[in-house]
Amino acid sequence: MLYDAHNHLQFEELTPHLETIAHDLAAINLGGAVVNGTHPNDWDDVVALAERFSWVTPSFGIHPWDVAVRPDDWQLRFIHYLEAHPHAHVGEIGLDRWILEPGRDNDPMLDGVPPAPIEEQMKVCAWQLRWAADHNRAATIHCVRAWGPLLEVLRSTPLPERGFLLHAYGGSPEQVAEFTKLGAYFSYNTSLIDPRKTRQRRAFQVVPTDRLLVETDAPAFPPPDPIYTLPNQKPGTWQNHPANLAMAYADLARLRGEEPTSLEANVAENFKRLIA
Ligand SMILES: [Zn+2]
Repeated sequence: MLYDAHNHLQFEELTPHLETIAHDLAAINLGGAVVNGTHPNDWDDVVALAERFSWVTPSFGIHPWDVAVRPDDWQLRFIHYLEAHPHAHVGEIGLDRWILEPGRDNDPMLDGVPPAPIEEQMKVCAWQLRWAADHNRAATIHCVRAWGPLLEVLRSTPLPERGFLLHAYGGSPEQVAEFTKLGAYFSYNTSLIDPRKTRQRRAFQVVPTDRLLVETDAPAFPPPDPIYTLPNQKPGTWQNHPANLAMAYADLARLRGEEPTSLEANVAENFKRLIA
């Protein structure tokens, strides 16, 4: 069975197509998926998905892109959702310095979203991580161009005993060992199938077998030549269908020179250890 360690099934790009998506996910033999909330505004939608689909594990967090627009009572709401859902995890949380770069390409999801300074992102990330550690929930971390600040947070904050996930890991191959020692799992994303992403691909050749996961981040991060597209999707758009997960598994097995069936079994075991 295949496991999607990180997606956003609650996003409105996917909502009108959930029936088709669930059908396609059954066809690729999906065993489980972690659906990550990003702001209290979408946490109810994550709950609804977990109630509708038995394979959904809910996760609640303030995404680094949403730090500046978090409500004043975000901590109370965070605790409330996580206490009400004892099997839920913490995420998506993290740090992003790319959003602070003046010359960056525009992402439609960032339209009108004010970026929070990195110090504020670090505080919000550390608070959520500490809560995850205190309650031994897994934490899913997004990190873009902020590896130094992330190490600072990881070294100064208690970490969940069961571990944490560096989703769509884009750090260097050299840093894998250090993050592993701190308890990290690393998820290989559909977008890394792109052969031009040589550094990220090299990193996944050195991730220890017992820390390896696979993800889509759907509806974000599509592979270069997707097998699955959303109904009415315009060519060249950025949306990712969650069933492209199977492509990421196949590519990762080739990249690591592993038998697809043994990779599948290892990832399933890792997913159950960290998430279930
Ligand atoms: Zn995400």
